[in-house]
Amino acid sequence: MLCEELLTDCFDREHLWHPYTETLRPLPTYKVKSASGCRITLADGTELIEGMSSWWCALHGYNHPVLNRAVRTQLESMAHVMFGGLTHEPAVALGKLLLSIAPPSMSKIFYADSGSVAVEVAMKMAVQYQAACGQPGRTDFVTIRSGYHGDTWNAMSVCDPVTGMHSLFGPALPARRFVPAPQSRFGGDWDPRDADALRQTVERHADELAALILEPIVQGAGGMRFYHPQFLREAARLCRRHGLLLIFDEIATGFGRTGRLFAWEHAGVEPDIMCVGKALTGGYMTLSAVLATDHVADTISAVAPHVFMHGPTFMANPLACAVARASTELLLASPWQERVGRIEQQLRRELEPARQWPQVADVRVLGAIGVVEMRQPVDMARMQRRFVEEGVWLRPFGKLVYAMPPYVITPDELTRLTTGMLNVIRETTD
Ligand SMILES: *Cc1c(COP(=O)(O)O)cnc(C)c1O
Repeated sequence: MLCEELLTDCFDREHLWHPYTETLRPLPTYKVKSASGCRITLADGTELIEGMSSWWCALHGYNHPVLNRAVRTQLESMAHVMFGGLTHEPAVALGKLLLSIAPPSMSKIFYADSGSVAVEVAMKMAVQYQAACGQPGRTDFVTIRSGYHGDTWNAMSVCDPVTGMHSLFGPALPARRFVPAPQSRFGGDWDPRDADALRQTVERHADELAALILEPIVQGAGGMRFYHPQFLREAARLCRRHGLLLIFDEIATGFGRTGRLFAWEHAGVEPDIMCVGKALTGGYMTLSAVLATDHVADTISAVAPHVFMHGPTFMANPLACAVARASTELLLASPWQERVGRIEQQLRRELEPARQWPQVADVRVLGAIGVVEMRQPVDMARMQRRFVEEGVWLRPFGKLVYAMPPYVITPDELTRLTTGMLNVIRETTD
């Protein structure tokens, strides 16, 4: 096969599988030479303005001197040691920092490798907790539609069965209880009927349900929806009344993306278990953490086998912990709230014209997330190429064209990003 595109690497095209991409006729992949700040430089020197933060991760942009230094310094002492029976300063320091910004009820931290693994860990915790409470039949989960929780087996089982990207695996997955996602929008009026389906399911099936798992406020890859905080308050009340644990997946929403440090703060509702990942290391390497209350951890530990049955090989990897600490300290020391607020206002203003266009179904913005929902699924190959021609990096999926830039993006860069985005959307008629 010939690599007709200058920017496509022939070996890559022949041998490397890319996410959600076929091998027979793969979409072009653009070869990156380097990345710095909010710019990605391609092999031929083309510069793109980064609108994806590398899938929600790179808050501070690329090649940040502070984060580079954190990795380099840690590398000088050790890249990794096992976490069974050993500990180290990067894990301890990051733990202290995470607890200082997490919901006050969070007290125990379990480090894991990726977002999906964090979700697996959280779900296992919930099942083991219920067993420790003398309710071994409570092994099922309830969740809301339009959710996305990752690509591993149990994470897939709580993704939206249609929009959550795993419909193919449906028959192979454990069947979970799904209720409609709340229709009341963030910033709009609360419709009390939004909680009815959840109430009925929880009341009817409490003795089978270990936990409710959901993404608070912002549903990411399952539909880019922003829903009303009251839903979380109702959900928390139902969980408490019926003995379900409440699991918040803050893997996409954490570290300021929605305008609050974590999305639970919009509702003031604290979970029993919380997953963080993605932006945790500022986009430098993979790391996630599952936070839990003392009650959850102590209940699991009080009953045989007393230990929580999970232990990743690279648990609490020192390099990842060191850069996560540096990234989080950098975030907290920065005027992140002001920056996210400014990005929010600018996205609202600059994406608004698209609302009038016939091919556009909706425009919505929350924090540093700007979404244009099309009426039809987009032609990804064409859009991707056009975005690169416009000098911006965006990766739409389904009907959704969206931007979530690094917080350090300048107003000029953001204008170029939204201009490129709207130019391509305007010409889209499919
Ligand atoms: C991305 C994501 C995950 C999965 O994280 P990975 O690191 O890709 O495994 C889980 N939950 C949410 C909400 C996510 O956005």
